[in-house]
Amino acid sequence: MLLDALTRDMRKTIIAGNWKMNKTPAEATALLEELKPLVADAKSEVVACVPFVDLGIAIEAARDTNIKIGAQNCHWEESGAYTGEISAAMLKDIGVDYVVIGHSERRQYFGETDETVNKRVKAALAAGLKVIVCVGELLWERECNITNEVIARQIKLDLWDVTPEEMKNIVIAYEPVWAIGTGKTATAEQAEEVCDFIRMCLKTLYGLEVASAVTIQYGGSMNDQNAAELLAKTNVDGGLIGGASLVAEKFAAIVKAADASTTY
Ligand code: PEP
Repeated sequence: MLLDALTRDMRKTIIAGNWKMNKTPAEATALLEELKPLVADAKSEVVACVPFVDLGIAIEAARDTNIKIGAQNCHWEESGAYTGEISAAMLKDIGVDYVVIGHSERRQYFGETDETVNKRVKAALAAGLKVIVCVGELLWERECNITNEVIARQIKLDLWDVTPEEMKNIVIAYEPVWAIGTGKTATAEQAEEVCDFIRMCLKTLYGLEVASAVTIQYGGSMNDQNAAELLAKTNVDGGLIGGASLVAEKFAAIVKAADASTTY
């Protein structure tokens, strides 16, 4: 273990739902209304990253609650001829708090590269958003024993030119691609090993103090059954949750497991 276990107290535990391309605005309102009382007492930060068309109603539904609203992507330019895109400033303007950048589905299906991830991260930070940066290896890369190389490269490139001060608004989500939406979860040991390695990469880039304060989430088929074991690990400071975030009770159970894993 790289860093002292006590450093877990320095970090915010964050449970974020990634709704992906699910829920119409009416369905989104219903899900948030169901979720609100279930997580009202949460110690952990609770975030719902919803489709663009749901952002407005989600922000309204979550007003005066402890639920923060996030988007699932943003463009790196402030405005211009980018049909179909949404800028970070637009998100900030309507009251969005978080944005997910570099999700493996965007890398896999929409040609996202570490270079474009980095540009989006920089733009989102400049607009004042908190950014959940997703990294993770493919199954083949794990089998070839190059998980650490892949992760180190993504961390370095995706965070290129991000300052130590800006790191206060960065969350890293370790999401092994083979575990996303597949029902295959990394073991708690595998998750801890890579999250610990990510922190070591951050320490090399930013020093111990910054590295110790960054929240590192695990994502990949986390659910109400396996969350407690994963979140008990020192360097697993939260979760990015896909499928299980679409069911209020399951998501709330993960938040409860997260609360139980924190000592602050
Ligand atoms: C995700 O979308 O980031 C994710 C982890 O999905 P799931 O929980 O469904 O594997």
